[in-house]
Amino acid sequence: MELIIGRDGATAKLKVVNGTQVTLYGEAASVPGDVSRQHCQLTAIDDTTFVIRNIKSSNVTWVNGIEIQSKHITKEDKVQLGKSRYDLPLDEILEQMKPNIVDIEGLRSVWDDYNRNMIAIRKRQQTNNLLARIPIFLTMLGGLLIALSESIRPYSIAFTAIALLIMAYGFYRQATDRSIDKQEKLKKEFQRDYVCPKCGRFMGFIDFDLLHQNSFCPGCKARFKK
Ligand SMILES: [Zn+2]
Repeated sequence: MELIIGRDGATAKLKVVNGTQVTLYGEAASVPGDVSRQHCQLTAIDDTTFVIRNIKSSNVTWVNGIEIQSKHITKEDKVQLGKSRYDLPLDEILEQMKPNIVDIEGLRSVWDDYNRNMIAIRKRQQTNNLLARIPIFLTMLGGLLIALSESIRPYSIAFTAIALLIMAYGFYRQATDRSIDKQEKLKKEFQRDYVCPKCGRFMGFIDFDLLHQNSFCPGCKARFKK
């Protein structure tokens, strides 16, 4: 990453150009005329080390009171521009140099919990469906057995009784089933929690492992920490 630092011609504020992004710092007319419009360049070596370099050799740049053309600096160094020694707000400028990375590892458990709860709800619904079918099966089986053999007739009442009991249990389970409410609640909580820790954008109903394969957040473009 590389920043071009200089004086904004229109406002005489400090102007920092970061690719296509322009940021102005300080009050109007706070930067003296001996700071050039393109005065120096700041390049990141790593997260804490930077190189400051004069863009033209006629520009004057100071690091800790010593005039330089090019020098390695950290955020502790004092940088001044121009003969009148304008103090560069290095801390503020270096904010732009911070790598845009977001750690989404915390979303793994959000996805796992959601997925596990949804599967449990689906299993319960599956059992309810099955319970609704067993009585029909028993009734039909009873009818078939009676048709096959007269001697079975006395037991048909047992088939019907068992079928009715299972049916009643199935009704009870369906009547007390809150799975639709639960599903809605889970979805809402999931949409609230499965978001980018940086910009808060909802990540969608996407499996965490698939999400993690993406390289950055579609909202804030922060790269996912791997
Ligand atoms: Zn984001």
